[in-house]
Amino acid sequence: RFDVSLPALTRLISRAPRRILRAVEAVSFAIPRGTTFSVVGESGCGKSTLARMVVGLQRPTEGSLRFADIRRGDGTFGPPRVQMIFQDPYASLNPRWRVGDIIAEPIRELKLRSSEAETGIRVGDLLEVVGLSRTDATRFPHEFSGGQRQRISIARALATEADFLVCDEPTSALDVSVQAQILNLMVRLQKEFGLTYLFISHNLSVVRHMSDHLAIMYLGRFVETGPAEQVFNRPRHPYTRLLLETIPDVEKPNRERRPMSGEVPSPISPPSGCAFHPRCAIAVERCRSERPLLRNDGEIRLACHLA
Ligand code: SF4
Ligand code: MG
Repeated sequence: RFDVSLPALTRLISRAPRRILRAVEAVSFAIPRGTTFSVVGESGCGKSTLARMVVGLQRPTEGSLRFADIRRGDGTFGPPRVQMIFQDPYASLNPRWRVGDIIAEPIRELKLRSSEAETGIRVGDLLEVVGLSRTDATRFPHEFSGGQRQRISIARALATEADFLVCDEPTSALDVSVQAQILNLMVRLQKEFGLTYLFISHNLSVVRHMSDHLAIMYLGRFVETGPAEQVFNRPRHPYTRLLLETIPDVEKPNRERRPMSGEVPSPISPPSGCAFHPRCAIAVERCRSERPLLRNDGEIRLACHLA
């Protein structure tokens, strides 16, 4: 299990007047090994900050992350190795390095192979694992398409023998047809290597088929979490329902799709009470003054006075 419990992440905005931004607050979840936990919300909701904290790129002002020790196939026992897959494969690969060196770097750094020859074999194997060819090692990142570059990022993450991948919108910079290929690859790799994913997305339909658990995030807080099937089939929180209404339905293509109404308020001055109340169609007086806390309803956790 990977337990994450973050009462608050406070970022100080340096622009005058100085204001405190709580990018992520009161967030807690655990991810069983080998499963996918997805966090979905609109841009600015704090999901990327959450991802960066989980991989250690940013520190929470309060709270903790616990990684239970795991036993690997090779008999070693210890904390999971965590790697991040970024949204933009163009920016995350060094353009001056050959792909083979990009993938070999962590192998050399962590001394995972005892010779250059073995490192080269490992790099070739990894390229094949992600659907590229061994000869691609001598080429440069600019010679590849966006989808292929994301495959290279995944190969580099696997080169570290990672157990846990934190993926921040890994397909949102790609064409729709390529997105599906990358998602299918990730699902296959998860099965093959027992990987655990924290998957960040603004798009519920992207995570629908690959998530075991799901958290819907709004202005730095989880508003609904639970098994993915339950959240999709019976969304309870008004914000989850709004997100689902904006997804095209393949079975009912003529169904009228409601556009997302309203803007996400600034996290620097969040609305009082329930932060969603200015956009909520069923808000009552209490919603303006009292913040709903997450409470359990079976396997679902929900933060709403009425749902
Ligand atoms: Fe809407 Fe009130 Fe529920 Fe917030 S607490 S989601 S405003 S009904
Ligand atoms: Mg983001």
